[in-house]
Amino acid sequence: MNLYTKIGLGIGIFVIADTINRQRTPKPIVMNLPKPMRGACIPPFGIFITPKNAMDPTVIAHELCHWQQYQRLGLIGFAAKYIGQSLSTGYGKMGMEKECRQQSGESNHCVNHYRQCYG
Ligand SMILES: [Zn+2]
Repeated sequence: MNLYTKIGLGIGIFVIADTINRQRTPKPIVMNLPKPMRGACIPPFGIFITPKNAMDPTVIAHELCHWQQYQRLGLIGFAAKYIGQSLSTGYGKMGMEKECRQQSGESNHCVNHYRQCYG
């Protein structure tokens, strides 16, 4: 299999997963993630929560909020906006993260000073 075939297959997997999953609300998948992550939204595949936080409604609501951002912006739009904000303001201050911290019920202090709350 040459490089172009592999790239084509890779893009195909994303397009198929995007087509199937974007309209759905994913069930959280419990798995270990690198610290200090408590959860992750990885469009178009789903949301992932660490075993320790699997029953934490705040963490689940936070990742579902990112999933709604993905549904609103599309796969490319979500990735571009998330990476762009992350590079320009940093994870702690980026608007997409603050939106989900707020929506999931974090305190005002934790919305604006996330690392002080969760390391
Ligand atoms: Zn987040």
